[in-house]
Amino acid sequence: MGEAVLLGSCLCGAVRYQVSGPVADAAHCHCSQCRKAHGAAFGSYSWIEDAAFQWLAGSDAVRAFASSPGVRRTFCGNCGSTLQYVSAGYPGGFWLAIGTLDADPAVRPALHMFVGSKAPWFEITDNLPQHREWPPVTG
Ligand SMILES: [Zn+2]
Ligand SMILES: [Zn+2]
Repeated sequence: MGEAVLLGSCLCGAVRYQVSGPVADAAHCHCSQCRKAHGAAFGSYSWIEDAAFQWLAGSDAVRAFASSPGVRRTFCGNCGSTLQYVSAGYPGGFWLAIGTLDADPAVRPALHMFVGSKAPWFEITDNLPQHREWPPVTG
């Protein structure tokens, strides 16, 4: 393999996971659903391939909420930590809530998305690109 293994966990520690592949496409999402799911100004996610992800503990504690058709948001059923955004429209992987990582994934968020739904009390002060909704598809 030769790739670094990143460990992550929820707030209470019941759920632990590892990522053994690339952590890509990091972004901050300001949509109202991410704001509520995180209880914060925005959610920060990276794309993770299913094959690179493994639950190490507490997979039975992971709960899912269908936040919109074809989308499941997973979280720890004990402490409520947001874990994944899983979309049927994007098979083969999911977006990981990178605030639950216990190590530096090296990747840095490259953009803000859904700034059209941004919390009025939060001001974006960096120079990253801002997209009103989804960013344009690349790659
Ligand atoms: Zn937990
Ligand atoms: Zn969002």
